[in-house]
Amino acid sequence: LDPGTFSNQSKAVIDFIADYYENVEKYPVQSTVEPGYLSAMLPESAPYCPETLEDILEDHCWLSWEMLCSGFNVVGFNWISSPAATELESIVLDWTGKMLKLPSSFLFSGTGGGVLHGSTCEAAVCVLAAARDKALKELGGWKNITKLVVYASDQTHFSFQKAAKLVGIPPSNFRLIETSFSTGFSLSPENLRFAIEDDIKSGLVPLFLCATIGTTPSGAVDSTAELGKVAMEFKLWLHIDAAYAGSGCICPEVRHYLDGVELANSISMNPHKWFLTNMDCCCLWIKEPKLLVDSLSTDPEILRNNASKSKAVVDYKDWQIALSRRFKALKLWVVIRQHGLTNLMYHIRSDIAMAKRFEAVVGEDERFEIVVPRKFALVCFRLKPKVEEEDLNRKLVEAIMQC
Ligand code: PLP
Repeated sequence: LDPGTFSNQSKAVIDFIADYYENVEKYPVQSTVEPGYLSAMLPESAPYCPETLEDILEDHCWLSWEMLCSGFNVVGFNWISSPAATELESIVLDWTGKMLKLPSSFLFSGTGGGVLHGSTCEAAVCVLAAARDKALKELGGWKNITKLVVYASDQTHFSFQKAAKLVGIPPSNFRLIETSFSTGFSLSPENLRFAIEDDIKSGLVPLFLCATIGTTPSGAVDSTAELGKVAMEFKLWLHIDAAYAGSGCICPEVRHYLDGVELANSISMNPHKWFLTNMDCCCLWIKEPKLLVDSLSTDPEILRNNASKSKAVVDYKDWQIALSRRFKALKLWVVIRQHGLTNLMYHIRSDIAMAKRFEAVVGEDERFEIVVPRKFALVCFRLKPKVEEEDLNRKLVEAIMQC
């Protein structure tokens, strides 16, 4: 987006918000729409081609005058407080899930569903809580919490250890399985199996496995297809953390990294990383939303309403930690419509091509080495270590940061 277009588009949005406030008294306090009204008005899948902001703003008008950005301070904790924010979120999660070719078991149009969180860490807390509560119910209650074990690799994002601690898993029950250069730093299904069997022998209960598509340190990919088989055998909840690289999987040539996703219970991806969406925005899809709701729902008198009672609506307060929530779906919806699938794929491919060129340049320079083969747009390289120069690469990082 060039600065001139950005400025013009921002002004158009501000005029739109100002117009709303000028006419605010004409609108009813509570929406009068029926559940499902929005999906009847919007396409089932994301647009392939980009659309203009004028067309998108136009849609705001005829879709609903209450469906607007954070300028309107939409709270949206349950359906009744903002049907548009709620339904647009469900629609956008289905659009994005379809772009990633997720099985229908993760989509509202199938048997699952999705929600927008602020971060992967929040999503991890929520799915861990759901997995924990399901297991504790089967085991006979909270006294068994010290038996539950979470598995990940030494490359898994540290936020999963924090999330496990937050839901009460003893830190000593978090298994960080070692990875190595020889497997491209991906989690070995055999080593996972050894760790699980050891724990079972010690009377512990395997609970949860996090597999990562595109780890933070090296862009490694854990094989969901292989790990999924182990997870199913031992009845572990399998979560896929595709925070960064998941966005890349909208391109058919990258999608194979998600093979085996049908074996997972949940998957998360951060559009705020590589999907042109501003902070904060994390998509979480889950096969059995009921488990999330069983674990996180609250039913205070002040929020009771007929729509919730009918069970025909999604109340997103029961899919997250907090009660109040922002209208995050709007920005993701605008991003998808403004770029269209075609330009989003162009953006991913252009980043990957740039990384490929950089990797080639670095690879030809004998002072450097590529540490692990590149998979996405992350190139891991270093100055070849020399015995006499300790901390050489740390000094290089510091020098780059000071540029
Ligand atoms: N998972 C991966 C693979 C990441 O790269 C990151 C952040 O860099 C995270 C999780 C944490 O994401 P968040 O900041 O949204 O909690």
